[in-house]
Amino acid sequence: MNRRAIVAANWKMNGSLALVNSMASELSKVSLNENVEVVVCPSFPYLAAFSFASSKANLASTFSLGAQNLSEHAKGAFTGEVSTSMLQEVGVSYVIVGHSERRSIYKESSSLVAEKVQAALAAGLKPILCVGESEEQRVSEQTELVLAAQLQPVIDKIGIEKFVDVVVAYEPVWAIGTGKTASPEMAQTTHQFIREFIAKIDENVAVKMPLLYGGSVNATNCEELFAQADIDGGLIGGASLKAEEFKIICSAAKGK
Ligand code: PEP
Repeated sequence: MNRRAIVAANWKMNGSLALVNSMASELSKVSLNENVEVVVCPSFPYLAAFSFASSKANLASTFSLGAQNLSEHAKGAFTGEVSTSMLQEVGVSYVIVGHSERRSIYKESSSLVAEKVQAALAAGLKPILCVGESEEQRVSEQTELVLAAQLQPVIDKIGIEKFVDVVVAYEPVWAIGTGKTASPEMAQTTHQFIREFIAKIDENVAVKMPLLYGGSVNATNCEELFAQADIDGGLIGGASLKAEEFKIICSAAKGK
């Protein structure tokens, strides 16, 4: 099949220059399986520092830098925002878009998320598009409807042929930062739904699309999650701040 695996670290609003330096140096000791890429997404102020620390630690090209957000605008009077060209200038190649914390706390709608995905792709950045249902939506059996409603505006905006450059991260909101992981079977069923949803529009895109699981992944549960047929790695929050644990998670990923 030859689908690459990705392990992405979402530091959220955590970390420090000390963590940037120690993580870059620790990651230089990880041996990754073939066809695996690791993406570290620190906060904006640490992006350039991580880029510098990665060159100093001689990190392989299988390690990339990602941002946690971007502006949908190219430049101008948007105080507090960060553009794609700024991200690229400091060595960023991936960007997380539509994380559930952006959707819920900062009220990012699925149409704004679609604009951000479009802006990222237009600039040559690889978007990691987050989708996922709340606990209430899962209990009321709305999961598939919610996921479809989050994916469709992006497909409508960019066109399915460009979706081949999108990494999708399925993150059930109830599993993020809670220690409640979806069981491997539940995660697989939902990942399969997402891949089939895309396959109904374009089978070729669906086969190639890396589909990550996120939500309380740790050193103990990563292996079983990553072994599922439609799980191609993970988006890791809390556990990505602890070098020893994150290294175990990186080593557990395998391309499919
Ligand atoms: C996340 O923030 O994307 C995430 C998955 O967090 P955690 O691993 O801490 O649940």
